[in-house]
Amino acid sequence: MDSGVIYLVGAGPGDPGLLTCRAVETLQQADAVLYDRLLDNRVLEHATKAELVFVGKRPDRHAVPQEEINALLIARARRGETVVRLKGGDPFVFGRGGEEALAARAAGLQCEIVPGITSAIAAPAYAGIPVTHRGLAPGVTIVTGHEDPAKPDSQVDWQRLAAGEETLVILMGMARLSAIAETLIAHGRAADTPVAVIENGTHPEQRSVVATLASIGARVQHAGLGSPAIVVVGKVAALAHELAWLPERPLAGRRVVVTRAQAHAGELARLLRNCGAYPIEVPVIETAPPEDPGALDAALSNLKGYDAVVFVSVNAVEACFERLRTVHRLDARALAGLELWALGSRTVEALKQRGIEADVNPRNHDLASLLEREPARAPSGRRYLLPRGAAWWGASRSLEIADALATHGARVEEVNAYRSVPVSGVRERLQRLLEEKRIDAITFTSSSAVRSFAAEFPAAELAELCSQSAIASIGPLTSATAREVGLPPRVEAAESTLSGLLEALIAHFAADGGGAGPGGAGAGDASDAGPSPAGTVTFNERDGA
Ligand code: SAH
Repeated sequence: MDSGVIYLVGAGPGDPGLLTCRAVETLQQADAVLYDRLLDNRVLEHATKAELVFVGKRPDRHAVPQEEINALLIARARRGETVVRLKGGDPFVFGRGGEEALAARAAGLQCEIVPGITSAIAAPAYAGIPVTHRGLAPGVTIVTGHEDPAKPDSQVDWQRLAAGEETLVILMGMARLSAIAETLIAHGRAADTPVAVIENGTHPEQRSVVATLASIGARVQHAGLGSPAIVVVGKVAALAHELAWLPERPLAGRRVVVTRAQAHAGELARLLRNCGAYPIEVPVIETAPPEDPGALDAALSNLKGYDAVVFVSVNAVEACFERLRTVHRLDARALAGLELWALGSRTVEALKQRGIEADVNPRNHDLASLLEREPARAPSGRRYLLPRGAAWWGASRSLEIADALATHGARVEEVNAYRSVPVSGVRERLQRLLEEKRIDAITFTSSSAVRSFAAEFPAAELAELCSQSAIASIGPLTSATAREVGLPPRVEAAESTLSGLLEALIAHFAADGGGAGPGGAGAGDASDAGPSPAGTVTFNERDGA
């Protein structure tokens, strides 16, 4: 059998936008991906057909020994697999990528390197720090801070590094930050040399502190910054005051659970991310074909019997087209001659993708005014097909739009085109997340999501969840269900849209103490400049650099 290929791939520093095109290509081709802890797991979503193998450090256990990782890479490649060894940042910058490449070569295997954007340069850049700068820093040295600087046989020559004006970028240096700063001062770097520490660089939770060699240890401890972080020593660090560019984001560092079905979570996640939040997708429902597709099939094979079709959601569009294609062997032409309604911009878009411009596009709740404005639409006697979702927990009420049409004399036929079904395992996932870190809010965009979520937890745990995280609902119907099942919302959207939900979350956290942000960002401490949750850099005037 032909051997496979090993790719040593850099995953970039955290922001998935900083993944290279080549890295995405190799992930898409991979049969297996061996990865360590990543700042953002979205990177792994590109590996659609691969087996994902975690080889990093678990909270309670030691890291998988390097020899074992090498052996795993080699064994899989020998089996003919395309193996991606994914590493944070760049694989050759403190990634032990060199050792893995040597092992692959020794085994006679093909090994390709895909460089990544290293955190050593990207984290400073995201804090507004150029690591070299004319007149300030003629060069940069990237060095490990892992070793005890006081050790006489330390491989790092701190005495040499202390001399001159070059920027020092120190990785893995948080545990020994004070000792490193003291050593540099002892060997002659000025005590007032600017120093920046950037935690979780390029990630929504990025925080940074700028101080001096003399004060950085205390400042970082006070701010509670931890790993992973980059330490930048040198005059360039002070440029952060002028060049910090990450906008003040109203949800900076907030961890928000998105419970929407996987297929529809993307939009809310994107909105949250744009505001600086860290969305955590925990889908609690997914869509499935209806239990009995009989009514849908009957309607689809008798489309001539209707005057109009009302699509109330993207799901409805997808379900109808899927059924038309797979069962009836028909496409968009089957809808020719029918008046087509689409509720909401995403539904309009879903039709557009299938080559169809909706004839009628009422906003969700202004059907009555639409009918007044356009009396020609007065539907008396007309026949409307309304494909819709069936709730998994039992019979559902008639939809609002169906009632409105019926009031105007229309004959409306609601048929189940799909149904929402609960996803299991939500409780385990959420508990793991809560153990790892706090969760600021849990969002719900439908009653079915609320019910599915609540069904996973005993009542006492629901109450506990509500005390730890703000329950956020998209509107009054979802809120009512949430209250009913023991998840009283603290946040409710004024307008029942995703943007409305986002606005409500922003207002909630703004009222909630001015965005304390993650990890104890010094409340009541503004003058002494705690870390900056919004990615901007704080600076203590007394440091004087
Ligand atoms: N190969 C990686 C470095 C691995 S060593 C790269 O090129 O970026 C691990 C160290 O990298 C951490 O201790 C920390 O110092 C640094 N690091 C990695 N990602 C980081 C990030 N997003 N922000 C700050 N530091 C980071």
